[in-house]
Amino acid sequence: MEYIDIFITSFKDYARYVGNEVINPHWGNYLYWLIGISLFFYALELIMPWRKNQPKIRKDFWLDAFYMFFNFFLFSLVGYYAVSNVFVELFNDFLALFGIENLVAIEINTWPVWAQLLTLFLVRDFIHWNVHRLLHAVPALWEFHKVHHSVEQMGFAAHLRFHWMETIVYRTIEYIPLAMIGFGIQEFLLVHLFALAIGHFNHSNIKVPLGPLKYIFNNPQMHIWHHAKHIPSKTGVNFGISLSIWDYIFGTHYIPKEGRDEPLGFDGMDKFPENLKDQLIYGLKPHKENSK
Ligand SMILES: [Zn+2]
Ligand SMILES: [Zn+2]
Repeated sequence: MEYIDIFITSFKDYARYVGNEVINPHWGNYLYWLIGISLFFYALELIMPWRKNQPKIRKDFWLDAFYMFFNFFLFSLVGYYAVSNVFVELFNDFLALFGIENLVAIEINTWPVWAQLLTLFLVRDFIHWNVHRLLHAVPALWEFHKVHHSVEQMGFAAHLRFHWMETIVYRTIEYIPLAMIGFGIQEFLLVHLFALAIGHFNHSNIKVPLGPLKYIFNNPQMHIWHHAKHIPSKTGVNFGISLSIWDYIFGTHYIPKEGRDEPLGFDGMDKFPENLKDQLIYGLKPHKENSK
């Protein structure tokens, strides 16, 4: 019963939270930040496009716009937030069986705020880089990740085009390591928005010369190769989410030439569903081909 109560309370809390976010614009408002950051990168795409002949409303623009709001808000509303609160409670109860009261290994909350934010950003991005590699290496996970790789014309909104199962995979894997350094599932707005902006940037149809910073930050000229159809590695290249540095450290970087006009996607993409409904259930039942 305790778990059902947590589920219902969390669900109501989140519904109230989303309602408040829409009605009350304020500086900590994720919805309006998402809209603002999206409009900023869309404006850059219109003013200084990298692929000048790509349509301004590119293929799947509206589908991806829907994915942005679905993955950023609605999916949580539909129950992920509630389910994850139940999971956390179950997990804590499970640990209590062994006399473990909390997982915190490093008391990070005594550090200066900037150091906490930087640590959260770095640790989380490195975990995500590893999860992203798994999404490519494990055939069952690759089936879900195909949604993100089914983009044919690249633009900022493709950033949040991904299967809802990815949220579950990322959040589940990051939970324990983040809990060990004292971060709960509460989010740090600044880190979240910074990651959101870099993610939009990576997928934007713009070219910004970063100089040596390209070895640290992911960027459109690098990430386009992550989406390229023809690459030498079967399990992918350039897995960076916010930072490119992990790919340079671990040797998974690949930029053979300017990738502006590279064909995007994966082998067998002609059989991949184009409509939202089929994409949402894609990968849940076994498929014959697992090609990349
Ligand atoms: Zn990928
Ligand atoms: Zn991408």
